[in-house]
Amino acid sequence: MWVVPEKEIAGLMTPEAAFDAVEAVFAAMASGEANNFPVVREAIGHEDALYGFKGGFDKSALNLGLKAGGYWPNNQKRDLINHQSTVFLFDPDTGRVSAAVGGNLLTALRTAAASAVSIKHLAPEGAKVLGMIGAGHQSAFQMKAAARVGNFERVIGWNPHPEMLTRLADTAAELGLPFEAVELPRLGAEADVIISITSAFEPLLMDAHVKGRTHIAAMGTDTKGKQELDPALVARARLFTDEIAQSLSIGEFQHASAAGSISDGDVTAIGQVITGNHEGRGDAEITIFDGTGVGLQDLAVAGAVVDLARQQGKAVEVEI
Ligand code: NAD
Repeated sequence: MWVVPEKEIAGLMTPEAAFDAVEAVFAAMASGEANNFPVVREAIGHEDALYGFKGGFDKSALNLGLKAGGYWPNNQKRDLINHQSTVFLFDPDTGRVSAAVGGNLLTALRTAAASAVSIKHLAPEGAKVLGMIGAGHQSAFQMKAAARVGNFERVIGWNPHPEMLTRLADTAAELGLPFEAVELPRLGAEADVIISITSAFEPLLMDAHVKGRTHIAAMGTDTKGKQELDPALVARARLFTDEIAQSLSIGEFQHASAAGSISDGDVTAIGQVITGNHEGRGDAEITIFDGTGVGLQDLAVAGAVVDLARQQGKAVEVEI
C-alpha cells in the first residue's frame, strides 16, 4: 500500500485539483455512479472526542474507502489541531488496502472546493462582492477557493468573535482584494455571494438581512443541532446540496425540514446542475448550497493526491 504523509499534502494538492476532483464526484453522485455509505459518528467517552467514519464507493473513478477521524477538543495542549483525520483507500477489485493518506489539509481543501463548485454553478451573473461569515481555520481556504472561481472585486466579513477577523483581512490582502468588516445587515444587503463557515448552533444570517440576487454557500452545519441560517431564508430560496438525505438530517436544511417548511423534493443535488439535468439558478433570487461534507469528497481528493504523490516520488510504499 502507499502512504502519503500529512506533511506532503501541501506540496501536492492544489485548490485547482481539489475543485476538479470534487466537481467530478458530485456529478458521479448525481448520475448514480457513486454512493456514500451511512455515516458513523460517536462520542467515545474519552478526551471529549467525537470519532467516526465517512465512506463510499465511486464506480467511475474507482475510489473505494473511508475517512476516519473526528474532533479532539483538547488537542491544542498537545500542539495538535483539534480536527484529525486519515483517509484509507481500498482496491475495489480485491478489497486490499491501497493507500493511507493524511486527511487534515485535504478536508479543508475539499470543503472549500465544494463551496467553490456551488459558486461556479449558482452565483448570480456579474457577482462582485463576496461576504464571509466565519473567520476560523476553514475560512481562509473558503475565501481562496471562491476567489479562484468568482470575479470578486471586494470582500466583506463578519464573525461572532471579532478578534478573529484579522484572518479574513490577511487572506483578502493575499488575494489582492480590499476587505471590510461589517455587521450582518450590511453583509446580507451588499454581498452577491455569501459563504458561512462557523460552528454556530443558532441562526446568524436572517431572512431580512439578504437583499437582491444572492448565492449562499452554507458550509458550517455538518451535525445535528448546528445552524447558521434563518429557516425563513431557507424557505424562500432555491435549494441545492451535496447529498439530500444528509442535508435534511445533519445539514443546514435539517431545521426547515423539521419545521415542515421544506421537503426532500425542494432540494436538488448540485450534481444535477453540473451534469446539465437541472437549470440551477434560473430566475431564483436566492440560491443556497448546503455543503454538508460527504465521504466521497474525501476519497476523490485522496485518490488524486495518491496519483500525484506516486508521480512525484512522494508516496512511501509499505507491505501490510
Ligand atoms: P474553527 O474552530 O477554526 O472556527 C470556528 C468558527 O466558528 C469561528 O468563525 C468562530 O468565531 C465561530 N464560532 C465558534 N463557536 C461559535 C458559536 N457558538 N456560535 C457561532 N459561531 C461560533 O473551525 P473551522 O475549522 O473554521 O470550521 C468551521 C465549521 O465548519 C465547524 O463547525 C466545522 O465543523 C465545519 N466544517 C464543515 C465541513 C463541511 O464539509 N461542511 C468541513 C469541515 C468543517
